[in-house]
Amino acid sequence: MKIKINDIPKDGMELSESQDAGALDLARDDLRFVSPISISAFITRDKDEAYVRLTAKGKLEITCARCLSPYSIDFKRDFDLSYDLKGKTSLDLTEDIRQEIILEYPLKPLCRQDCKGLCQVCGKNLNEGSCGHKPDTLKWNGIER
Ligand SMILES: [Zn+2]
Ligand SMILES: [Zn+2]
Repeated sequence: MKIKINDIPKDGMELSESQDAGALDLARDDLRFVSPISISAFITRDKDEAYVRLTAKGKLEITCARCLSPYSIDFKRDFDLSYDLKGKTSLDLTEDIRQEIILEYPLKPLCRQDCKGLCQVCGKNLNEGSCGHKPDTLKWNGIER
């Protein structure tokens, strides 16, 4: 998202655009956007400073850290940026938007709060039912992981 500083009117302006997630280089090993990211911004200017209020929206596909199943969420975050305009004629927000979005990624994504994960013996997804293996018994046998 690029803005010409002279285009910013006194009362501020709204801008919106749709960004290709691939072009923004937003994928992480365990998550990626499966939709374009829609970005809307309201930009105001005060002498040598610009303030930007942004909303980024899109659909994220995530791999659960426990059961390794994919799930998707609607990503939506608001954030504020400010810029010093001295000596500049235009602003490029792209890299800042990219970093703000990445900062909002979950550190340890879970498909649900109580995700039971995978059985350490047979690898079955325990959210789909029990396989009969008991993790506690394994600890007593010293096969703990
Ligand atoms: Zn899970
Ligand atoms: Zn099992």
